[in-house]
Formats: sequence, C-alpha cells, structure tokens
Amino acid sequence: MKCLVTGAAGFIGSHLSEELVRLGHNVTGIDCFIDYYPRVFKEDNLKGLRKNNQFTFLEQSILKADLEKLLKGIDFVFHLAAQAGVRASWGKDFQIYTENNIRGTQRLLEACKAVKLKKFVYASSSSVYGDTESLPMKETDYLQPISPYGVSKLAAEHLAYLYWKNFQVPTISLRYFTVFGPRQRPDMAFYKFGLAAFTNTPIEIYGSGEQTRDFTFISDIIKAHILAAESSVEGEIFNIGGGNRICLSEVIPIIEEISGKKISVQHKPTQKGDAKHTYADISKARKLLSYNPKVSIREGLEKELNWIKNFRL
Ligand code: NAD
Repeated sequence: MKCLVTGAAGFIGSHLSEELVRLGHNVTGIDCFIDYYPRVFKEDNLKGLRKNNQFTFLEQSILKADLEKLLKGIDFVFHLAAQAGVRASWGKDFQIYTENNIRGTQRLLEACKAVKLKKFVYASSSSVYGDTESLPMKETDYLQPISPYGVSKLAAEHLAYLYWKNFQVPTISLRYFTVFGPRQRPDMAFYKFGLAAFTNTPIEIYGSGEQTRDFTFISDIIKAHILAAESSVEGEIFNIGGGNRICLSEVIPIIEEISGKKISVQHKPTQKGDAKHTYADISKARKLLSYNPKVSIREGLEKELNWIKNFRL
C-alpha cells in the first residue's frame, strides 16, 4: 500500500513512518521543518528512514505543496503535520496555528476529495476537551478547549468530519493523550525532566504539580494508527490514551529512581492553556478498533530516559 504521512520528520510522524515501512508499505513523508524546535532533532528522527528505499521524503509545507500530484496513487493518509504546543499558541503566534493546523488540514482534505482513499487518519488531541466537568473524558463530552492550540485542533477535527459527511473522504480522528517515548519533542515535560536529571539542572513545574495527565507510550499510539487504518470505521472520533494517569509530582520520583539522579524542582505559576487533568475513556477505541494500550509509565519512561542518555547528552 502507498501511504502519505504529513509531519513525517516530527516525533510521532517519524515513528509512524518507520512502522509503516516495516510493515511493507511505501511511504511518502512530507514535512517543512517548522521552527518550533530545532531542525537537527527532526533530521535525527529521519536518519533511518532516509536510508530506506520504501521511504520518499519531501521537504515542503502542506500549505504550498502540489497536493493533487502528491496524492496520486495514495491509499492511506496519516495527517500529523501541525504546529504543536499549547503554551505558545497565544497572541500573534496564533496565526501559525490557524495556518498550519486549520488551513493546512482544509487544503489537504480538499485535495483528498479527488482520490479514492482507503483511510484518512487525523492526529487530534485531548486538548479539544479543556477542563471537563467529569473524568474520564468521553468522545461525547461537551468540548470547550482552553487553549488556542486546542481550538485549532478541534477546528481541524470538525473539518475531517465534514469532509467525510459531505464528500465521503474516509476520515477518522484520533484524540491522542500526551504521548511520550524516544524522540519526544524537547518542549514536553518528560523530556525536560529526563534531561534535567542527567545534567543536574533544576526543572520547572507549573502550578502545584497535582495536575494529572493520561500518558500514552509512542508504540501504543502507532498501533492505534494501524488499527484505525485497517478498520472499516469512518467518520468517527476516538480517544487514544495510555491508561497511565498520573500526577506530575509522582513522576519525579520514578525518574529519579530510573536515572539514579536527584531532581531539584522550582514551582512556577500555572500556565494559561494547561488543562488541570486529562484522562481518556478508551472504551470506544477498545470496542471498535480493538485498541489495547500495553506500555506502563515506568516501562515507557525507562525507554525514553535510555534514549535521552544515549542520544541527547
Ligand atoms: P512535532 O512537532 O514533533 O511534529 C509535527 C511536524 O509537523 C513537525 O515536524 C513540523 O515541522 C511539521 N509541520 C508543521 N506544519 C507543517 C506544514 N504546514 N507542512 C508540513 N509539515 C508541517 O509534533 P508531534 O508531537 O509529533 O505531534 C504530531 C501530531 O500529533 C500533531 O498534529 C499534534 O498536534 C498531535 N498531538 C501530539 C500530542 C503529543 O503528545 N505529542 C498530543 C496530541 C496531539
């Protein structure tokens, strides 16, 4: 099968491209190396893929690429390209989010109307929920994002739905809950905590540290994409969590134990846009996609810290 992965140089897109190639598919990856974090990290992500002749890489923005040409003969689209990050999405930079996350998605979906795709999988986010009244978060909950980033991801999710409803583009949206593991983005908490442990530098925790997150290990996220692509379901939205809900302050001792280093913590005020808690109800994904997350926080953190130690110090 022929697959298109947008955002292929990123944390999740590079893992997904590798898995698709491993499964025998031909993959075209597109990424414009948006400067949210340094290009050198993304070049590292692509190192193995660039050597594989089942993988073709195109350095271009989905906002500019000739998408009709790019989509010719493609069976599956995995749309991960986006400007990530909640805290940077306020102020004038919101335009980066509206352009890449909303207009980019609309442009891609529009081009997909003319293609006989088997599936279009969109990388949505738990940030579409905001602070819900009750936990765990269900796909049917009222959606009220509390960050401009969340608004942009929700707008694109709605676009994915309406291109299915009106033009039968076979979309599925996966709402990821905080993804972790090797290659994690350098702005994300576990990466920062791990690096701080190994370099004896203090970490900053925003708020009390009592906020909880449902963390999903990268291999479970990738498996969810494969299941979504293979399923007969269309026009649906799924929570993809890891079943690993934990307080940030409980993560520190685990990292200290694995790294054998003491971490010093500085508390900072709560950041606007950060949800208090995230926790996925994954019963819909379990039932319709046979999704079954396998990797625990501890096991996943061991893998991520090992990667930081070997590749980021
Ligand atoms: P990432 O920043 O590592 O990867 C995104 C990639 O998209 C980047 O390499 C960037 O250069 C590329 N990109 C952005 N705009 C583009 C454009 N217009 N054209 C081509 N490429 C473009 O981020 P990630 O953590 O791997 O996230 C991947 C996807 O998953 C994103 O859509 C993100 O919103 C979503 N998501 C991530 C998480 C998480 O925990 N990492 C959680 C929820 C949702």
